[in-house]
Amino acid sequence: MVVRLSCGAISGVDAFRVDLEVDYSRQGMPSFVMVGLAEGAVREARERVLKALQNSSFRIPPGRITVNLAPADRRKEGTAYDLPLALGLLAAAGVIPEECLKPWFFAAELSLDGRLKPVPGALALALLARSEGARGVLVAPENGQEAAMAEGVETFTPRTLGEAVAFLTGNAELAAVCPEPPSEDRDDLLDLADVKGHEKAKRAMEIAAAGAHNLLFIGPPGSGKTMLARRMPGILPPLDREEALEVTKIYSVARLLNGRGLVTVRPFRTPHHSDSSVAIIGGGVPPHPGEVSLAHRGVLFLDELPEFQRQALEVLRQPLEQGRVFISRAAYAVSYPADFMLLAAMNPCPCGYSTDPRHTCTCSAQAVARYRARLSGPLLDRIDLHVEVPAVSYEELQTSHAGPSSAQVRERVVRARQIQTDRYRGTPCRTNADLSGRMLEEYCRLGREEREFLGNAVNALALSARAYTRILRVARTIADLDGAAELSLAHIAEAISCRVLDRGQS
Ligand SMILES: [Zn+2]
Repeated sequence: MVVRLSCGAISGVDAFRVDLEVDYSRQGMPSFVMVGLAEGAVREARERVLKALQNSSFRIPPGRITVNLAPADRRKEGTAYDLPLALGLLAAAGVIPEECLKPWFFAAELSLDGRLKPVPGALALALLARSEGARGVLVAPENGQEAAMAEGVETFTPRTLGEAVAFLTGNAELAAVCPEPPSEDRDDLLDLADVKGHEKAKRAMEIAAAGAHNLLFIGPPGSGKTMLARRMPGILPPLDREEALEVTKIYSVARLLNGRGLVTVRPFRTPHHSDSSVAIIGGGVPPHPGEVSLAHRGVLFLDELPEFQRQALEVLRQPLEQGRVFISRAAYAVSYPADFMLLAAMNPCPCGYSTDPRHTCTCSAQAVARYRARLSGPLLDRIDLHVEVPAVSYEELQTSHAGPSSAQVRERVVRARQIQTDRYRGTPCRTNADLSGRMLEEYCRLGREEREFLGNAVNALALSARAYTRILRVARTIADLDGAAELSLAHIAEAISCRVLDRGQS
C-alpha cells in the first residue's frame, strides 16, 4: 500500500512542497530503499526513524519498504523528514489510518527515543502549508512560536512521536500554539543620547538613516566609531510585519532563532576582517545564509574596512546593487535576500593617528596612499557619506550635553522616509539612495545660485562626476529631513561636508 504525506524542503529561505511517499509490502525479502535526491542526513533518517518507532513501542512487521521524495529532481537536505517518514511507515503498515495524516504538513527530527527535535525553516514551512491550504503543521515545541507566526494555519507541537500519533488519531487533545505578541525589544537597543559630543557623526547617521545611504566613518582608534555604529539600528524606522517575517525566515534557516517567534528589531551584524567570503556572502554545504543576509533589513558594519580581503569586499557588490545574493556551486544554486545598510569604519592612516592632535602620526605619505588604495573602488562607489569621527577631548566630554535620544532622531527619520515613499510611489526608487540618471535630475533640480555654488565646489575640490551625483542624493535627503521641496545652498553645503574622502587627505 502506498501512503502519501505533505512536507516541505528549504531552498534559500523559502520552502517548496515535497510529497513523501511510502510503499510497504509484506511480500518478498525485507528491505528499506530511499529515493528522490535525498542527501546526507535524509539518508540517515532510516536508522533514526526505525529506532524511534521501536522505542516508542510501535511495531512495524518486516517488509519491503520504498520511500520516495517527490519531486525527485530537487535536493532535499536535513532531518525534517524524520517525523513524516515515521508516520508514513505507520500508515503504510496499517497501524494508523492514512486519512488522519491528510490535512497536515510535518517537519521535525526524531531522537532515538522518539522525541521531536527542531529543524531550520519552520516558519517557511508553515507559510507553505498555508498557501497549500493545509489545516496546519506539526513541529517540535522549540519551533512552535516561529511556525505560529504564519497566521492562518494551526500549529501543534507534540513532544514525542507517541503524542503525535495519539493526537492525529483523535486519542489525545493538544492545544494549538498561541503566537506570543511580538515584544518590542527596543530596550536592548543602545541609545544615541548616551554618546557625548560627535555632533557631526551623529548628524551623518541621521542623514544616512533618512535616505538609506551607506556611511563610512574615518577616525583614530578609540574615537568612538564602533560605539556610534552600534546605535544605527535604533534610529532606523521600525520593521513592519512583512519585513519582520522576511528577517525571521532568514534567522530560522540559519538556526539563529533559538525558540523565539518574530524578529522585531533590525539586525546589526559585525563580520570580522578575517572572516572568509563564504561567512560573509553565504554558501557552504549544506548552503546557509552569510552575514550579508543576516543583516537583511538592518545594518552590516565593517570595522577596519581596509583590513578586509579584497575578495571579501568584491563579493559585496552584488548584494549592494541588487539587495540579494546568488550562490552557485557544483551541487546547488540558491539565492538569499541581502538588502542592508552598509556602515563601515577605518583609521585615517595605518598607525591610526594622522587626524589625532594628541598623537604623532608615524606614517609616510606613501604608506597612507597604499592604505587608502586598499579600499575597493566599486565598493567605495556605493558609499554616499564619509565623515570624520575625531577623538573627543576630555573638555568636550565634560561640557557637551547629551544630544537627542534615538527615539527623537528616529521620528525625524521616519518622517523623511515617508516623504520619499510618497514621492517615489510607482517608480523603481524607494529611497534617495536609489536616485540616479533621469530621476536624479528630476528630483534634485537646482536653482541658478545653487548650481553655481556646486559648480565652484566641484572645481575647487576637484570632485569627480560620481561625487557630484552623490552630493545631490545626500542633499535631497537633507532637504527631506528639513521638509523642504527644493534643494538650498545650506543643503548642498552640508552634503559636500559629508564627503571627506573626495578631498584626498581627510
Ligand atoms: Zn599614521
